[in-house]
Amino acid sequence: MNGDAMSENSGGYPPSWYAATRLAGPSVARLEGDRDAEICIVGGGYTGLSAALHLARASRSVVLVEAERLGWGASGRNGGQIHVGMRREQEWLEQALGEVEARAFWRIALDARVHLDWLIGHYRIACDLTPGYLHADHRRRFTADTRAHVDHLRDRYGYEHVRFVDRDEVRHLVGSDAYHGGMVDARGGHLHALNFALGIAAAAATEGALLFDRTPATAIVRHGARWRVTTPHGSITADRVLVACNGYSRGLVPAVERHVMPINNYIAVTGPLGESGVQALIREGHAVSDSRFVVYYFRITRDHRLLFGGGENYSWTFPSDIAGFVRPHMLRIFPQLKRTRIEHAWGGTLAITPNRMPFVREIEPGLTAIAGFSGLGVVLAPYLGKLAAQALGGEAGMLADDFRRLARLDIPRFPGGRLMRWPTLVAAMSALSFRDAF
Ligand SMILES: Cc1cc2nc3c(=O)[nH]c(=O)nc-3n(C[C@H](O)[C@H](O)[C@H](O)COP(=O)(O)OP(=O)(O)OC[C@H]3O[C@@H](n4cnc5c(N)ncnc54)[C@H](O)[C@@H]3O)c2cc1C
Repeated sequence: MNGDAMSENSGGYPPSWYAATRLAGPSVARLEGDRDAEICIVGGGYTGLSAALHLARASRSVVLVEAERLGWGASGRNGGQIHVGMRREQEWLEQALGEVEARAFWRIALDARVHLDWLIGHYRIACDLTPGYLHADHRRRFTADTRAHVDHLRDRYGYEHVRFVDRDEVRHLVGSDAYHGGMVDARGGHLHALNFALGIAAAAATEGALLFDRTPATAIVRHGARWRVTTPHGSITADRVLVACNGYSRGLVPAVERHVMPINNYIAVTGPLGESGVQALIREGHAVSDSRFVVYYFRITRDHRLLFGGGENYSWTFPSDIAGFVRPHMLRIFPQLKRTRIEHAWGGTLAITPNRMPFVREIEPGLTAIAGFSGLGVVLAPYLGKLAAQALGGEAGMLADDFRRLARLDIPRFPGGRLMRWPTLVAAMSALSFRDAF
């Protein structure tokens, strides 16, 4: 799928620095035979795994099926960057939804950030959680907006973890001439993406969720008042189904894919650079992402490498030489790495929506879908999994209200529908990414 090459020692994961440094997850098998559950979850990334965990905690019977390996999708391959907020900034939300709703979404974002700490702390998930995030402006003209944004968050939302950094400070923090200013968020940070996913999976299994890997759902059909999810060697009959396939959905629920578009994004990891080597690149160990339309994002790893994300494409296939694809982007920021070896490179598929807000819907009674975190799922996806668990578990309260709030969001369709969305998107995205050059 998507040109992923498998290697012997990557445990069924596409080769990546994450796969090479992964810890053991729970022991899981293929689904063989028929099962019955209150809730069936399709997709074993952060969304599905966290929903399974929270449903099991609430003593619901839950079966999760993952087509490949747990955390095999975007959740096991992403930049590991922890961002606070929705994918759209508060200023945009205020304009689009009004002050009250914008504030509600800010609260959801803060709750999601607290939930991340709770997950990692409560279940002792070893995922290299590291504090500190830096947004860096690659155009001088963007810094005024960033300064205003910091003031907005501090003054209007009382969020004092952010501060503006000027050109001198950003150049102190990042060993590059590429940036003119930015914003530090002390509540942001980074983590080991795959070990985080495997940690949620282990927690879900401990709480009693039944997890199956190498088990693709091939159809989801009504079965009287219930639903039946079929897989190659068995089926699950359930009262409710949550579809959490994000960018890896391939026609399973077409109603989702009209609103959600898969995009491939690429990451390269250098050889070890030593403690002083990585400090010369990112002095205080922040997760950094920049103001490009096709964002560059980078951080250092526990074993003192640079993990650099940059470049994307809009097709079903990955470039054959991913390291060669990412390298020029990395050298634009860090030309001093010209002679540095790239030891790992991989691609992953994320899902965007037209307005970059997540798509949360009850497609039909009892069939719910969540997708389209638009590149910001490390914090939000596990939390939306929790909200879904609350809603699917039939519990009332503020969390269920927040789920309904998300489900009410107007997420437009991509023009052209499920099959014809590509040409429109490729044209639009290519035009916008072209602007990064100026
Ligand atoms: C390269 C890259 C970098 C990123 N960087 C960041 C970042 O730094 N910070 C951040 O916040 N976000 C980042 N993201 C986004 C983030 O990774 C996602 O938003 C998040 O992982 C989504 O989780 P999910 O569980 O919804 O989907 P996924 O993790 O993609 O999981 C979906 C799963 O569904 C499975 N599946 C699909 N079809 C079926 C089927 N028929 N039956 C069973 N299973 C099926 C897939 O195999 C897959 O494992 C990045 C994404 C990518 C690709």
